[in-house]
Amino acid sequence: MSNQYDVIIIGGGIAGLSAATTAARLGMRTLIFTGQVLGGHLVSIEKVDGFPGHPEGIPGFDLCPATEEAAVEAGAEFAAEDVTELKPVDDGFKVTSETGDYSARTVIVATGTSLRMLGVPGEEEFFGKGVSHCASCDAPMLKGKEVAVIGGGDSALQEALILIPVCSKVTIVTDGEGLTAQAAYLTQIGEASNVEIKTGATVKEISGDSAVTGLKIETAAGEETLAVDSVFVFIGLDPISWLVPEKFHDEYGFITADTAMRTAKKGLYAAGTIRSGSAFRAASAGGEGATAALSVFADLYGE
Ligand SMILES: Cc1cc2nc3c(=O)[nH]c(=O)nc-3n(C[C@H](O)[C@H](O)[C@H](O)COP(=O)(O)OP(=O)(O)OC[C@H]3O[C@@H](n4cnc5c(N)ncnc54)[C@H](O)[C@@H]3O)c2cc1C
Repeated sequence: MSNQYDVIIIGGGIAGLSAATTAARLGMRTLIFTGQVLGGHLVSIEKVDGFPGHPEGIPGFDLCPATEEAAVEAGAEFAAEDVTELKPVDDGFKVTSETGDYSARTVIVATGTSLRMLGVPGEEEFFGKGVSHCASCDAPMLKGKEVAVIGGGDSALQEALILIPVCSKVTIVTDGEGLTAQAAYLTQIGEASNVEIKTGATVKEISGDSAVTGLKIETAAGEETLAVDSVFVFIGLDPISWLVPEKFHDEYGFITADTAMRTAKKGLYAAGTIRSGSAFRAASAGGEGATAALSVFADLYGE
């Protein structure tokens, strides 16, 4: 088999997997680089809310394999590697990964986002030793423990709701004046008896010995150190857009593309949360992936 593809998709989240399924079903030779985490963010989300057809929510670890299976069955080829370079060439693009070079007439970038770090002392040192981005992964080890969740939006509260039934106390720390999550989450948080909310709070340091033991915060009342065994950080998302030149980024680093997912560069498409203006929902990311593949087909083979 040659390394020449109609379309190469970079990113194995729901946007990339959906693009791969649609592209392969349309008969295009399709390769998807899934990177280190097949399924992207969704794979670690205990209950994906708001996904059509699943009124009670669906575990990400069920949704992702089903989405992958659809792409495999459609005939997409998979590479569980990171793309390290993306270069335009005369007749398309050269895509370089850890194992070699690949050619594609078109490329769909679906690299998504990474969870933003606090950038405080102790965060890197204790990452994986109490500092975490995944409540459902760590909850079984935290029965009866006190933990802190940093952030006041949907992601932070969704993760806090996983910890509340397990932990003795969950302290939600936000630098805002209040919580900004959707009403359904606020109601559930309001009903919990083991939650404390610290607003207007700045995280100063995460401390510990072999694992996390404390979280130092500063509020209008002064500094205090909370005795916690874990700190979950959900303060925003940063785009993973470095493969694409900055002239195609918006002011926040997301890739600019139209509603057909076409960027200003011929043959280059962006889909999912990496796209400027995307809705940060699983359903919309999947829809954008499919739309990008349909645009590729229209551009290569006519409507
Ligand atoms: C804590 C949390 C809770 C959420 N809860 C919900 C919810 O309940 N309902 C909902 O609808 N949405 C939810 N979301 C949002 C949802 O997860 C995203 O909308 C969705 O995951 C976006 O999919 P994506 O494919 O665009 O990107 P991502 O999921 O970020 O996937 C990007 C993929 O690209 C890969 N990648 C990155 N760089 C490279 C590279 N160089 N080479 C190859 N591959 C690369 C990554 O490994 C990953 O596989 C939540 C998000 C978070 C963080």
